[in-house]
Amino acid sequence: MNNFQTNLTQLKSGMVALVGVPSDENSSFLRGPAQAPGQIRRVLHSGSDNLCAENGHDLGREPRLLDVGDLPLGPGTWQADGAPIITQHIANLLDREARVLSLGGDHAVTFPIVQAFAAKYPDLTILHIDAHSDLYEEFEGSRVSHACPFARIMEAGLAKQLVQVGIRTLNAHQKAQAEKFGVEIIHMTDWQPGMALNLAGPLYLSLDLDGLDPAFAPGVSHHEPGGLTTREVIDLIQAIDVPLVGADIVELNPVRDLVGMTTAVAAKLLKEIAAKML
Ligand code: MN
Ligand code: MN
Repeated sequence: MNNFQTNLTQLKSGMVALVGVPSDENSSFLRGPAQAPGQIRRVLHSGSDNLCAENGHDLGREPRLLDVGDLPLGPGTWQADGAPIITQHIANLLDREARVLSLGGDHAVTFPIVQAFAAKYPDLTILHIDAHSDLYEEFEGSRVSHACPFARIMEAGLAKQLVQVGIRTLNAHQKAQAEKFGVEIIHMTDWQPGMALNLAGPLYLSLDLDGLDPAFAPGVSHHEPGGLTTREVIDLIQAIDVPLVGADIVELNPVRDLVGMTTAVAAKLLKEIAAKML
């Protein structure tokens, strides 16, 4: 699996790099998301579905989509202020003028990934789909918890605009954080299917699968009923009309999945995101 450095040499300008970030040590409740990249690849190549996105773009015949494998992450990956090795690896992909689609991993991986994106794209807008705003100043003593990445991103000024969709767990602390950082939150109570989002480019999409209702995506660590349908998330992706330079799909927990349902959702969304990037 870990031919990462070798595969990197095949990555050329204009390609989409699919990369696994198998890290779940910053999850607060359950482990499991580190197994997600391998499981999503398994479903993607199982033959149960073809590799065609809904716009007709056949990713099975697309030489510009390159799976570079999983990042080689050791025990020393995480430090108090981030994961510089993840940032460095993603920066290497971006230096080759590729767009990068990362498979988490828990949501902690988004901070070091976005550090690399912000260095390349100073005017980055982030669209964040999640049940949770992940804006905690710190969570259970950790500043790199999967509950904190968007606090780290915003305090470091890594995004010009952060738009959150699917939120349905905002407490007083996170509400104050959102106001402090100027986060635009579209709460589930205000959500309407087909809602137009005012997004600028270049755009980074961070997709936490618990933003979907657990009826559609049960294989996540935190079940939060009352979420988005699979169709609504697909429609959101297809409606993006600015350059989508990067994305992550995080928080798939295969240990909690039912008959591979959530893994199939992740594979489906991967196809739609990759087709949009290309
Ligand atoms: Mn999250
Ligand atoms: Mn979440």
